[in-house]
Amino acid sequence: MEYVAGLGLTRERFDAVADRFQERTFRGRRYHHLRHSSGPIPAGTAIIDAAAVRGFPSIPRTLVLEAGVKRYFDGPFVAEEKLNGYNVRVARVDEILGFTRSGTICPFTTSVVRETLDLDPFFDAHPEAVLCGEMIGPENPYTTCDYPEVDSIGFFAFDIRHRESGEPVTVAARRDLCETFDIPQAPGFGAFTVDETDTLQDVVADLETRGREGIVMKSPDGERLLKYTTSAANQGNLVYGFAYPFDYGREYVFPRILREAFRAHEVGDDHDAIRERAHDLGEAILEPFVESIRVVENGGTLSEAHTVRGDPVVIDELLEHLHSLGLHVWIESDETLGGERLLTFTKQYRSSTDSIDAYLDGQTFRE
Ligand code: ATP
Ligand code: MG
Repeated sequence: MEYVAGLGLTRERFDAVADRFQERTFRGRRYHHLRHSSGPIPAGTAIIDAAAVRGFPSIPRTLVLEAGVKRYFDGPFVAEEKLNGYNVRVARVDEILGFTRSGTICPFTTSVVRETLDLDPFFDAHPEAVLCGEMIGPENPYTTCDYPEVDSIGFFAFDIRHRESGEPVTVAARRDLCETFDIPQAPGFGAFTVDETDTLQDVVADLETRGREGIVMKSPDGERLLKYTTSAANQGNLVYGFAYPFDYGREYVFPRILREAFRAHEVGDDHDAIRERAHDLGEAILEPFVESIRVVENGGTLSEAHTVRGDPVVIDELLEHLHSLGLHVWIESDETLGGERLLTFTKQYRSSTDSIDAYLDGQTFRE
C-alpha cells in the first residue's frame, strides 16, 4: 500500500503496529485510526482506502517566553494566536472529511466544514494536502469557549501539511494559500527575532486582558512549533478541571500552578500582584469544586452541557458518533425550527459525582 511509504515506514514497521488501529465506519465507509501514538506513528493517524492522514503533532510548551524562544528557535519566528477549541484535520479522500484529534471522522465536523467552506478548489490544486485548524465557538460538541467573532461554530486554519508525511508548507505559503482559497485562519502577529520578546510579551498581555488562550510560535518553514498560554487560560482550565475534580483535578492542578508561578516570575509580579494572582488561582480551584459538592449534595449529577446546531440528520449522526466513542450523553433539549435542529446535550461525569457522593456520606479518604 502506498500510504505505508507515505507515512515514512517500511512494511515491517507498519505491520508491527497495524493491529493497534481501530476500525470504524463513516456513513458506511470503513476506515481505521490510531487513538494513541504507537512506535513511529503519531496519535490520530487515520487510514481510509489507499490514503493515510497523519496525526497532528503534539506541540511543546515553554513556561517562560524569553528563554524559551532563545532555546527553541535559531532565527526569526512567527507568532499566531492559539485558539481554544478542538483540533481538526480536513482532507479530501474522494470526498471532504473532517478528522478530530484522535483520527475519527466526525460527521458533524465534516458537515460544518463542507457547509461553511468551499474547499474543492483548494483540494483540486493540492489533492494530497491536509488542512489543519481549530474549530471554535459556543455551539460546539467537544469544547466550548466563547469567541465574540463566532456565533455558532467556525473553522480557523493554522497549518497545511502533506497528509501522509506530515511535511508542512511554510507559514507564508500557508497564509497565502488560505487567502487565495478564502479559508479563515488563526490571527497572526507577525515575525519576531529571539531578542524581541518584549513586543511578544505585549501581545500576550493583550490576549490576557481579552481572556484569550495564548500563542503558538513557529519557525518560518513551519517545522518547529512552540506554545505559550496566558494565565487567563491556565486559570480557565483549572475552573474546568475542578468542576469535575475526580475526573480531571489531579493531573490538572500541578502543571497549571507551575505555569502561573513561572508567569508571575517572568512578568515580575510585585507583592500585590502576587497576592492577587494567588487569590485568583485559589478561586479557580476552590469555587468550582465547592459548587460541584453542592450540586451533588442536592442530588444532582455533574455534567457539562453542549449545544449544537445543524441539519437534523447530521445531529443524529453526531449523537451516534459520540455513542460509538463510549460517551454517555443526555439530551436536555431538542427543537427543530425551519429545518435546523438545536440540540443541547450533557456529558455526565460519573466518577466525580460518585466520589463526592461517597465522601459526603462519610467514606474515608485515603491519601
Ligand atoms: P497536544 O499538543 O498534544 O494536542 P493539548 O491537547 O493539550 O496537547 P493544546 O494545549 O490545546 O493541546 O495545544 C496544542 C493545540 O493547539 C493544537 O493541537 C491545535 O489544535 C491548537 N491550536 C490552536 N491554535 C493554533 C495555532 N495557531 N497553531 C497551532 N496550533 C493551534
Ligand atoms: Mg487546545
